[in-house]
This record gives sequence, C-alpha cells and structure tokens, in this order.
Amino acid sequence: MGKTKRVYSFGNKKAEGNSKMKNLLGGKGANLAEMSSLGVPVPPGFTITTDVCTEYNELGKDKIVDLLKKDIEKEIKKIEEETNTKFGSNESPCLLSVRSGARVSMPGMMDTVLNLGLNDDAVEGLIKKTNNERFAWDSYRRFIQMYGDVVMGLKPESKEDVDPFEEIIEKVKEDRGVEKDIELTVDDLKTLVKEFKAVIKKRLGQEFPTDPWDQLWGSILAVFDSWNNDRAKYYRQINKIPEEWGTAVNVMAMVFGNMGENSGTGVAFTRDAATGENVFNGEYLMNAQGEDVVAGIRTPQEITKEGSKKWAKLQGVSEEERLKNYPSLEESQPHIYKELYEIQEKLEKHYKDMQDLEFTIQEDKLWLLQTRNGKRTGAAMVKISMDMLQEGLIDEKTAVLRNEPNKLDELLHPVFDPKGLKEATTLAKGLPASPGAATGQLVFFADDAEEQGEAGKNVILARIETSPEDLKGMNVAKGILTARGGMTSHAAVVARGMGKCCVSGAGAVKIDYRKKTMTIEGKTFNEGDWISLNGSTGEVYEGKVPTHDPELSGNFGKLMELTEKYAEMAVRTNADSPKDSNVARKFGARGIGLCRTEHMFFEGDRIKAMREMILSTKEEGRRKALKKLLPIQREDFEGIFEAMHDLPVTVRLLDPPLHEFVPHEEKNQEEMAKELGVSAEEVKKTVESLSEMNPMLGHRGCRLGNTYPEITEMQARAIIEAALNLKEKGITAKPEIMIPLTGSVEEMKMQEKIVRDTVETVFQERNDKIDYLVGTMIEVPRAALTADKIAESAEFFSFGTNDLTQMTFGYSRDDAGKFLPIYLNKGILKNDPFQVLDQEGVGQLVEMGTNKGRNTNKNLKVGICGEHGGEPSSVEFCHKVGMNYVSCSPYRVPIARLAAAQAVIKG
Ligand code: PEP
Ligand code: MG
Repeated sequence: MGKTKRVYSFGNKKAEGNSKMKNLLGGKGANLAEMSSLGVPVPPGFTITTDVCTEYNELGKDKIVDLLKKDIEKEIKKIEEETNTKFGSNESPCLLSVRSGARVSMPGMMDTVLNLGLNDDAVEGLIKKTNNERFAWDSYRRFIQMYGDVVMGLKPESKEDVDPFEEIIEKVKEDRGVEKDIELTVDDLKTLVKEFKAVIKKRLGQEFPTDPWDQLWGSILAVFDSWNNDRAKYYRQINKIPEEWGTAVNVMAMVFGNMGENSGTGVAFTRDAATGENVFNGEYLMNAQGEDVVAGIRTPQEITKEGSKKWAKLQGVSEEERLKNYPSLEESQPHIYKELYEIQEKLEKHYKDMQDLEFTIQEDKLWLLQTRNGKRTGAAMVKISMDMLQEGLIDEKTAVLRNEPNKLDELLHPVFDPKGLKEATTLAKGLPASPGAATGQLVFFADDAEEQGEAGKNVILARIETSPEDLKGMNVAKGILTARGGMTSHAAVVARGMGKCCVSGAGAVKIDYRKKTMTIEGKTFNEGDWISLNGSTGEVYEGKVPTHDPELSGNFGKLMELTEKYAEMAVRTNADSPKDSNVARKFGARGIGLCRTEHMFFEGDRIKAMREMILSTKEEGRRKALKKLLPIQREDFEGIFEAMHDLPVTVRLLDPPLHEFVPHEEKNQEEMAKELGVSAEEVKKTVESLSEMNPMLGHRGCRLGNTYPEITEMQARAIIEAALNLKEKGITAKPEIMIPLTGSVEEMKMQEKIVRDTVETVFQERNDKIDYLVGTMIEVPRAALTADKIAESAEFFSFGTNDLTQMTFGYSRDDAGKFLPIYLNKGILKNDPFQVLDQEGVGQLVEMGTNKGRNTNKNLKVGICGEHGGEPSSVEFCHKVGMNYVSCSPYRVPIARLAAAQAVIKG
C-alpha cells in the first residue's frame, strides 16, 4: 500500500491537486489548486485533506501532529523560499492564514486564523518590510485577538457579557478620548498587544504562544475542531451535509489588503447572484482586511462603475459624493479592475458556472484567495442555467442538472400585489440583497425570531448586522432586514443561500437592541409591529402589504419544457378541490394521483349528514344519510373532474376512522344531539364506542368499506355519475377508483366487487358508460408482501408511503414528533423518514411491491402518493424502481418534474 498523501501544495502557477478533488481537498483547497494551475495569481500554500480531519477525530492531537509533522515542515520551507521570508524573522517574517474548507461551502460556520506568525520579533520584521509601524502593530493585535478567541477560546461568557478584547479596546479609546479604532496610535496598539496577552494569561492561565510553530499547530487543530462547533452542526443539519465529511485546512502565505492606500480587498460574482443577470459585480474596500467587507462595519464600494451608479441612486448619494467617497474599483484602480475582469471571465469559462471570488490587492498587486460556484437564489439559478445553455457554455442535460429541485420553491411563492404596493408607505430603502416578498412582525434578536417563528408567527428579523450565530433565527424568519452591510454581507449571502427575502444596509434604520425598537426618520417601531420587505427592490414598507401568486413564464417555462423532454415518469398532484387542481395543472401536473374524499365531508351540512350516518346503528339508517351525501359528493367530483378534464383522477374512497367526524367535547356533543334530534346521551355513547386505542391501526380504510359496503357504494356511484354528467357536456373525465389501506387480496376483491357492481348498475340506469379503473393504495406492509396476489384484482397501485413508513418503522405519524428531532440530532436517523423516503427499509417494500405486482400484471400502473412524491431524492428512487408517476401537493409539482428529469439524466 502506498503512503497516504495528507498534504497538497499549490502556488506559483503549479499545484498538486485540482478542482475535481473537492472530496479530499474541500471546495476551497481544490479550487485554489485549480486556479494556481490555470496561472491565476494565488498566494503559495498547502491544503491538509478532509481525511485528516476524520483521522484527527479518531486518533487525537498528538498522533495527528506526528503524522503531519514532516510534510508540513517541508511545505512551510517551500512557502518561506517562494516568498523570501522566515518564520519569526525580525527582518522578513513568514506570515500565514489558516482557513477551513469543506466539500461544500459553509460560509462563516467554521474558523479562520489570519496574520499567523506574528510575535515580538516578527512585528519588527513586518515594520522593516512595510515601513508601516501602525499597520504592523495593528496586524499583531488583530492576530492575538483572533487567536485568543478561535484557538484559545477566550470568548464572552454569556450573551450579556462583553467581549474581553473589545472591552480593552473600549477602555484604551476612552482613556485616549477617541472614538474610532483608526484614531488609535502605535503606542495605543502596543498597549493593546500587552493587555490582550495579559487578559489571556489572567483568564485562561496560559501564555499566548510566541513560537510560530506552536501558533500553526494550534490553528490547524482549531480549524479541524470547528467542524464540530454548534453552528457548523446546525448548518449541516439544515443543509443535509453529512457529519462524516470533515473539513480540509488551507494554509497560505498572508496577503494584506490593509497595507495602505494601494491595498484592498473584495468579493465578486461573475453574474448577479440575486437575479442571475449576466453582469460582473461585487464589492471592495481599500485599506481593509477581508472580514471588513463582510462584517458590514464600513460601507463597501461597488466594483463596476455601472453597479456603483446604481448603488448611489438607491442610497440617495449624489454623483459628486460617490466619486469622492465611494468610487468603483473600475474608476479608482483601473489596471487592477482590468486584470480582475479578465480573471473572472477566464474562471467562469473554465468552470462553466457562476463564480464567487475573493481577492486581495497588496501594494498594487492582485491576488485571488478563493473561487467557488456562487450561491444564488432560485430565480438566479434558473436564469443562469438557461442563459448558459443559450450561450452554448453548457448542454441541455447540464442545464437541467444545474437546478436544485427544492430551490424552485422560491419561485412559486407569492409576490407583492402591485396595487397594494402603490398604496403602501415606504419607510426606507436598502439594498436588494435577496429577492422575495416578506411580511411579518418585527423581532430584533435571533433567538426571539426562533421562539416566535416556531410558535407559528410570521416574523421579520431586524438587525444592525447579522453574524453566524443568528443562523437559526434567520432560518425561521420570513425576511431579514439589516441596517448595515452590503450585497456581500453575512446577511445577504446567507439569505440568498436560504432563498429568503433580505434587505441589507438600510442606513435609515436605527435599531436599539436594549429597547427592542427600530426608528426610521423619527418614527419608532416596536417588537411585534408589522412591516413588509421587498428583497427585489430593497424597499421596506410599513404594515402588511398584500401578495399574489407569481407569473411563471420565461426561463422557468423553458426549464419546465426541458424537464418534459427528459422525464420518463409523469407528475400528478394530490388535490381535493377544483382550486388546487387548477394550481397544479398550471404547474404542469398530468392528473390527480390522490383525491382524498374525507376532506369533502366537513363543510356545512355535509358533516351533519355524515354524523347522521355514523349515529345509525342499522344499515337502513346509514343508507338514508348517505343518500343526502350522494349529490354533494357528485357535485364535488364534477368540479374536480372538470378542472382535470382529459387527465386521470385517482379518487380514494373514505379512509379515516369515523371518530374523526364526531365531536369529542361535551358542549359540542350536546349541539350535535340537538341538531340531529337525538339525546346527548346517545351521541356520547356513539362517540365512546368509536374510540380506539390505536385508531391509525383500527377501523379505517377498506375496513370501513367492507364493514359498511353502503359507503363504498355511495362513493362509487357519485364518482361514476359525475363522470357521466360531464360526458353529456362533452367533457372527458378519467376516474380511477382507489381502495385505501388494503392488506390482503380478499379485502381488495370484496371492495372491487362492490365498486364494479355499483358502476354496472349506474351504466344500466344511464344507458351510457365510460372508461374507469379500480386499483389500490399499497400502504400496509402486507400489501407490499402479497402484491402479486393483490394485482390479480387491482389495475393500479399507488404507494401510500406515509402509512407504509408508519407501519414499517412502527413510528406513529401523529406522535413521532416527540422523538424524531432527538433521533436526528443523535444521528440515529439521517433524515425524517416521513419527509425523505427510507430507501433502505421502506424502499425495499416499494420495490418488491412494484415487481411482484408487475409479475402478475405487466401493465400495472404504479405510482406514489405519500408526501415523498414531492421530495427529490425519493422521486429519483421512484424512477429507479420503474414507477409510472409520482403525485405530490400542487406547489411541489415543478420540483417533482425537475427531480424526475434529473433522475433520467443521472441514471
Ligand atoms: C399515505 O398513507 O401515504 C397516504 C397518501 O394516505 P394518507 O396520508 O391520507 O394516509
Ligand atoms: Mg394512508
């Protein structure tokens, strides 16, 4: 066996790795290597692999240092030679950055250490090299602050506690009578260095390490450790990133954006990440370090002239002021801009995808620190893929695969109603950081957002700026508003990734965290007040602005056409009203895969007739009540069949246990008694008699239809009469009658007979007929196991994976909420099996059921109608087992269509 390679170097137009090695080198490391090989200027450095992270978690610190020592010493020597520096030198010190980088980017979730290598000697060296004493001491104090926090763990003890380093800075400023960091002198910065070291010693009982080698090992291990910090774990949980991937560590020669007025730093996108428009854009700051752009402390400037002008207009900044204080990079550093522009063109052509770049200018020289496929909104995702297809950069299949099915969801959400917008009061204007329309009640803290959001409130999280700690709150909020920060601020980047509406940098918004208020031009808003955000224009409105459904055309339409071309399965919808049917049809549904009839029994008079039936102890009484329900059901079916004309509609016969239709509170029972003209006692007795220990395993589904055949008869009659009525009007209905909860062929045969006999009777009465099918749900494990027998009687199968999951796992659908979150947290389950089909277990039953059914009837139509029918990985599975269709809720139809097409392309 060859030696395991743990470290890969890059820089100076060479590299040992490449962009295909993301699993091993992480996204950042793989792309740094690729850029270096492409001749893009990248500071020299090396990547420690993600496998080492796993090894470290298994073997611990000492063993891993032993394993890496030789390689890392060699790499550091190389960096020293290439940059003509030496660790700890008081002439020309070698300074490094240490950054995390997993397979997929997890922005801001893990740790970074910058300016590593500084100590009392190296700071002298840095002064000599740069002739800039202030810069050198500022870099030193920043390093101690970052290292003290990230590696040594000196942090505020609670939410109320102040950061110990910030406390010292504030104190020095106060003593000196200055307000801004920039006003601190060299002596002040020296004081900070001294006091920072002292507070570390005092609070941690440890000296700040002065040996660069100790600093390096401390930082490498801290970055590995940060894979397991709480926010990284949470991020992985919501983004479904496997725990076992681990992070790589990237160590690189430092380049400084804060070395003076001819240095700077920025972030750029090759296309617009919010709209997808094909324009180069981004933000930069001169004389700043990378974190300054993202943290939103200073106002970042636009990279392009066009972008800068647009920004000034939104912010109400005059052209004169813009040119003086906020010029674009294109205007202020034209030669750097030209080089950057050419690099971004080269990188996009090379990667054939929108790139998100980080760069630093050190003393007039441009360096690229990162490139990656940029995070984007759903709208941008669709537009970029369709544009790149048209530009000939990618082919059709790639264009389809470029779209993440779940992200389509964002495009389907409501937008502000133009009329409502006209009447709305605009409070402020910020930057259109992430599109969408959001309306909600104000909260100012992420944990309040979390608490109130989870309690079902629509909240808007308003912050001066956000940080990675706010992730959970941002995730539950309907929209995010920040007073500070640009288009690449934390809030903006994270919101776009989540597809959440965000307005950033609304300067007029003044937030007071202590009072929990927001003031805009003298008007004060409290926690709980309603506001609305337009993430596409940056506008902030007072109160609730009405919304309506979005128009789906253009690029979305083109993408849907492509899915039609590639998908082999049809996508149907679960709908039980004409309204839902119409929505689903608009989204491209090819029929109804599940029409649940029980929902039709609740409104108005219907429930009365239903209860009358339930109260009847004799068949005769039940038939009398069912007669009242017949015309109502027929009319409902006519509406749905008409909306779904020419397309198949699977109608499922009554499924839930009868106790769901009767009141359980005494007061309501008395009302029911009065309405039906019986005694309260009788109602109470009936309700008691319907009570079951395990209703989900009780008297429901075809067990009802087999014990009370008259219910099946009534429903079959209503379905067929509705279809015949439409036929008379020239409308084609294609009903498929579905028996729920079948577990044995005998159950199925008995139901089938009742249905077919009833249908024949109606045909004779009407002297007319139509085509129809009789089939069954497969949702009881026994049905899957005996599917060959059941297929003797069923013309189609529809997998009810909600019940099938419930019964296979033995997890109650209604009670699993109590322990599923804990199981997910502990890693006992990777996914909630009620959301993502458990392919390993439940999937076996689905596959077996399909194959056994088709062995008996090779033309058996097979579909799925559980919640999983709209979940992309489950849809892919359904394609693999050879289903004819999946069925899902109307708003998931486009998602399922895309997933179905992708399944074919991937296959
Ligand atoms: C199912 O069990 O998967 C199903 C679709 O039926 P219901 O959710 O109505 O039980
Ligand atoms: Mg079911």
